[in-house]
Amino acid sequence: TGVLEVTDLVVRYGRATALDGVSLELAPGEMVALVGPNGAGKSTLVDTLSGIVAPAAGRVVLRGRLAQVPEGRQLFAELSVADNLALGAWRSGRGRAGRDPARVFEVLPDLRPLAGRLAGTLSGGEQQMVAVGRALMADPDILAVDELSLGLAPRVVADLARHLRELNAERDTTVLLIEQNARLAFDLCRRAYVLESGRITASGPCVQLAESP
Ligand code: ADP
Ligand code: ADP
Repeated sequence: TGVLEVTDLVVRYGRATALDGVSLELAPGEMVALVGPNGAGKSTLVDTLSGIVAPAAGRVVLRGRLAQVPEGRQLFAELSVADNLALGAWRSGRGRAGRDPARVFEVLPDLRPLAGRLAGTLSGGEQQMVAVGRALMADPDILAVDELSLGLAPRVVADLARHLRELNAERDTTVLLIEQNARLAFDLCRRAYVLESGRITASGPCVQLAESP
């Protein structure tokens, strides 16, 4: 059984159909990419998983906690990194304390020396790392990362990707990487789904998807 199962999902905004019968399944511990161009429905899918958007039809089964690294990071620029992390624990809700920041620093050691800095003064790559750390504070079973590479230099993205791979391999956190940049996503993940105009148009091992036109 999957840690996440999406079956025949349909989402509409008024008369427009944003998702038109989307099905996908993630096994525990997998790192899977969801790739597709702008407007394909990627954010809509993530918003449906986190309950922000209600589907018109279909089913979402989550066996565990989902935490999202939102597109554009969405940090509080005027707060310290430590305070941004603390808000991640608070946002996890459910009446339970999230992770201790010390546990997050074990996974993301480069964050530790930044703890006292104001988030707004960090580089884009550092901010993305804080956004990942904040999501980890919710102690998730599934981490959905929306546009990891947005506005970042390839070297910075490679560094962040290494952290995500470690997190996936060592902590068994299931990772769903949502990316416009298919090449990057195919490099990072073993398996991917391609979403176009609200439908899954291809899926399978990334090595095969990368070869198909
Ligand atoms: P992506 O994340 O892949 O860029 P989105 O999920 O943002 O795609 O958008 C999918 C489709 O739904 C697009 O056609 C977009 O214009 C439309 N859409 C997204 N959000 C809304 C909304 N709040 N109201 C109306 N249409 C929306
Ligand atoms: P679940 O509720 O999903 O069964 P647990 O609460 O048992 O998960 O915790 C899962 C993992 O996260 C364990 O390794 C646990 O030690 C760790 N953990 C849980 N809460 C905290 C916390 N507040 N600080 C640090 N680690 C925590």
